[in-house]
Amino acid sequence: MNVEEILSKLVSFPVLGGESNLSIIHWIKDYIEPYGIEVHLLPNEEGNKASLHCRIGPDVDGGVILSGHTDVVPVKGQEWTTDPFVLTDKGDGKLYGRGSCDMKGFIACCLAALPDMAKADLKKPIYFAFSYDEEIGCLAGPELARTIKTHYKETPKYAIIGEPSLMKPIVGQKAIYILETYVNGSAGHSSRIKQEVSAIHEAMRLILWLEKKMDQLIEDQRLDDRFHPPHSSIHIGMVQGGIAPNVIADKAYFYWDLRTIPMDDMATIVAEFESYCRSREKELRSIFPEFSIKTIENHPPVPHLDTKADDDVVELIKRISGNSTLDTVSYAAEAGQFANEGFQSAICGPGSIAQAHRADEFIAKEQLQKGMVMMQNLIQELSSEDFN
Ligand SMILES: [Zn+2]
Repeated sequence: MNVEEILSKLVSFPVLGGESNLSIIHWIKDYIEPYGIEVHLLPNEEGNKASLHCRIGPDVDGGVILSGHTDVVPVKGQEWTTDPFVLTDKGDGKLYGRGSCDMKGFIACCLAALPDMAKADLKKPIYFAFSYDEEIGCLAGPELARTIKTHYKETPKYAIIGEPSLMKPIVGQKAIYILETYVNGSAGHSSRIKQEVSAIHEAMRLILWLEKKMDQLIEDQRLDDRFHPPHSSIHIGMVQGGIAPNVIADKAYFYWDLRTIPMDDMATIVAEFESYCRSREKELRSIFPEFSIKTIENHPPVPHLDTKADDDVVELIKRISGNSTLDTVSYAAEAGQFANEGFQSAICGPGSIAQAHRADEFIAKEQLQKGMVMMQNLIQELSSEDFN
């Protein structure tokens, strides 16, 4: 099968983040195995989802992990002009379909190059690492990265995460954490605002504290010019609370996200926020003993990626992709999770993030071909005695 035929097959599995991906993962497994490669599935606890990993080439230290996710984002509410789960060639040089760009295009390139990988006299191995539930918070990435380190006696050196980057090497990614804060106050007539504790008033105080925290970081020159914007951001995206203008609200909550540059530690920011919450509780419990503020995770934190411009993996990607302009991204991806396990990691894949997650998502055929060229170059690199 050529790369377009494989992509067409992959797009036909409508596996959304959060749903079972066994259909697509078993198809991939069945595709790989006839090349004499041992494929390992890494199921979740319920057994309805699985990541896949395998090694092509010699059992020696070093080599490259090619990482991709098999899930896609929903199409509901989007105005598609084609069937999102049928890869459609409109004759305009683009292939339309959900996941065509994010990021089944990259997986298709991996699979289309597999026959050549299997035939090649590789001196260092190639690993495939395909996950699930990436689109709902990179949930499977950490275990997959960890498993590759523990399952094989030998350890790969590099990881290339094939998110759409127009084949540019992406070396930085902000860490992302999404949280929910719940404030429990006391209800009452609005005239008694000083005798009760309004959950809304307190929620607003917390929100302003968070905004001030962000401004303080900027003022303290905690800036990393590789990123846009160059500072850590804290944003409140949803607030709910109260029932009427003349009733003091006993409940209020807000959802917020924290996107930190590598020099800022999100755990410290959250701990400072928690300590402010505890001080508010202490003060207000004299008025209402059950007053409480609780913050829970909406999504587990996704770590940042902070690959240095002169790291070997960057040199490698520059050579095989033909692109030497480095960039950073603000979306969540599994790259930081692979980096956390000690693999030198960077993002590089076909297609543009501008086309991801929207109606009529597409990948340019020319991008797919560039992805294939990268695979061929990688095979050549890894077949060389000098590769390190
Ligand atoms: Zn993606």
